[in-house]
Amino acid sequence: MIRDAVTCDRPLCVAVFLEPDDLPEEQEFETAVAAAGWQHLPDGHACPACLRGKGPVAERGECPGCSGRTVDLPGGMTCEWCGHVEPYPDEEDE
Ligand SMILES: [Zn+2]
Ligand SMILES: [Zn+2]
Repeated sequence: MIRDAVTCDRPLCVAVFLEPDDLPEEQEFETAVAAAGWQHLPDGHACPACLRGKGPVAERGECPGCSGRTVDLPGGMTCEWCGHVEPYPDEEDE
């Protein structure tokens, strides 16, 4: 399977959004992109970090929204750039 990807067109920004593994077949990639907070502007795509004034994303990491670097906070993996919080997976050992 070839994954779609969109990159941020702001200067110096390395943000990228990859098509999620679990994207339903009938859902448009652009819909998922928009849901992740990206906007398609006349001069290109802008990532959620740049749109919030937090960009440009300078370091890649684990953020599923902008691929920026994340820090581990009590509430989950928090993106330093776009602010996305990815909750930790439930522990299996209950
Ligand atoms: Zn950006
Ligand atoms: Zn992010």
